[in-house]
Amino acid sequence: MSSSFFQGVYFGMVIVASFIRVVYTRQYRKTAVAEDHRTVADALLISLGQGMFVLPIIYVLTPWLDFADYHLPTWAGWIGVVLFAVSLWLLWRSHADLARNWSPRLEFLEGHTLVTNGVFRHIRHPMYAAHLLWGIAQVFLLQNWIAGFSMLVTWLPGYFYRTRVEERMMIEHFGDEYRSYVERTGRVFSRLGK
Ligand code: SAH
Repeated sequence: MSSSFFQGVYFGMVIVASFIRVVYTRQYRKTAVAEDHRTVADALLISLGQGMFVLPIIYVLTPWLDFADYHLPTWAGWIGVVLFAVSLWLLWRSHADLARNWSPRLEFLEGHTLVTNGVFRHIRHPMYAAHLLWGIAQVFLLQNWIAGFSMLVTWLPGYFYRTRVEERMMIEHFGDEYRSYVERTGRVFSRLGK
């Protein structure tokens, strides 16, 4: 299987992910009445996350990044496909479970409730876990040191920052309800046996 096949799969899956996002963003715009915890750092991180798409696009449309290619066996490309498929499922399920409590920013919406069911039962950040899986899938699908790692490099620092701020915000808002939720869940990996 050629590397352009896996590049094609990558962009196909990005389109599916964007479709999921667009559907739920429209719902958000209709209903949002927010208690806003937005920060400059958060806005910068969101822009950086969106900016990372520039590199994969440059990679497939121009030869400029080809000097940084690496070549993996075909089965590694398929690992990327499976990881991205799981990521899409998790993105969709976390949106469906958060429903009207979802927001692209860190904020509370009118009637905001704490979601602890569905994919939120075992992990507190399934949507961020979906992005992490996407970032790892990208390393297998875009076999290039620059384009392949662009998601992980731009997203990981933001992830550590965001979960810290988000959890502090959730504790302020939901108090013991969130503290006990933290006790019985993992951050992005399920705490097995709990
Ligand atoms: N960190 C979560 C959600 C990301 S969306 C995940 O990775 O799945 C960010 C918004 O979701 C924030 O505005 C926050 O208020 C809200 N949020 C995060 N966890 C939540 C939960 N368990 N229940 C309800 N809202 C939640």
